[in-house]
Amino acid sequence: MEKKQLLFIPGPVAVSDKVLGAMSRPLIDHRGPEFAALASSITGRLKPIFGTERADIILLGSSGTGGLEAAIASAFSPGDRVLAAPVGVFGQRMVAIGRRFGLEVEVLESQLGARVPPQALDRALRARTFAGLFLTHNETSTGVQNDMAALAAIVREHDVLSVVDSVSGMGATRFEMDAWNYDIVVSASQKVLAAPPGVAMVAVSARGWKAIERAAAPRFYFDLIEARDFAKLGQTPWTPPVSVLFALEAALAHYQDEGASAVWERHELYARSIRAAFDALGMPPFSAADAHSVTVVASKIRAGAEPAALLRKLREERGVVLSGGQGELKGKIVRVGTMGDISQTDVLGAIGAVEMALLEFGIPVRTGSGVQAALRVFLERDEARRDGGPRAAGGRAAETAEASP
Ligand SMILES: *Cc1c(COP(=O)(O)O)cnc(C)c1O
Repeated sequence: MEKKQLLFIPGPVAVSDKVLGAMSRPLIDHRGPEFAALASSITGRLKPIFGTERADIILLGSSGTGGLEAAIASAFSPGDRVLAAPVGVFGQRMVAIGRRFGLEVEVLESQLGARVPPQALDRALRARTFAGLFLTHNETSTGVQNDMAALAAIVREHDVLSVVDSVSGMGATRFEMDAWNYDIVVSASQKVLAAPPGVAMVAVSARGWKAIERAAAPRFYFDLIEARDFAKLGQTPWTPPVSVLFALEAALAHYQDEGASAVWERHELYARSIRAAFDALGMPPFSAADAHSVTVVASKIRAGAEPAALLRKLREERGVVLSGGQGELKGKIVRVGTMGDISQTDVLGAIGAVEMALLEFGIPVRTGSGVQAALRVFLERDEARRDGGPRAAGGRAAETAEASP
């Protein structure tokens, strides 16, 4: 049998046994009442996570990219001019999808590792008229998180249809689709929600639907109008990944039990702990200080450490699976996901394994310095909770208490 692995890649993520077990349930008729109940239970649980009461959430049998393609192909027409503000590989993927569907995509460039400066977005949106705007909530390739509330305040001032890739962000931080007025927001099952891959979710506002009804880009499998018509009957147009939906429902029930603010705090804590550990090991964050993601830590590789060899050693000898860089960051960074069914003990074990691997490559690290840095972050949080309760924890403990029944 295969050795047990600790999955720290930014999706797919470690899935709990309970969620995996849900997939072994007998299949049901996807045109029957049980499926309608399942779909409605899932979309009902997703709405508060997306911060929406008004949008429709469409479930698609695909990975996250299918959700992005569905959004772009359904909401625009060839020749439409859109502005994209990519901050890495996944933002560039939206640019590529747009161009493939015949859109005229203008790119607002930014520095790798930085987030989109709201003023730059404002300037770009003022310079010309755009039919659409593509944003990334959390850029998995650089470990960068955009300030979606600040960007929303800018976007609201312009008549532009926004499409947000929140595949690796949704659920890990507060997201207020209604209040922030985003039109189409895309996520997927295999990241923060900690279910297996296979389901994309596309939330569509009333304004989004208006655009979709007018749009003329070609689409068939990913036609959101078709999906909406079937959703009204509690169905999907095509055969859905029923077993993955069972798992997604179980994962969402678990998310609700933990409570949104506790989930947010967990990701933030793990990210801070992992960042501190890598920093102590001479591998500082790649992301700018004001732009750190809570779901993916990207750390600069240390001189002397060859990432491919380091990652291979960790995977093969220690069962710890991390990611390398993508695109132009290949060979320059390592990435560690904080999402999924991982414990503080798993984090400490993974950091310990990284230290051992670095030492085995002859890279001088102070033994225990990474683990110590990670541990300190965990202990300080526990201490703040114990001593001061809500006050010392900066109100976070209070929020958590509120969220639990
Ligand atoms: C994972 C991810 C995607 C989607 O990738 P798939 O492999 O198609 O699920 C899209 N955007 C971001 C930011 C991601 O992290």
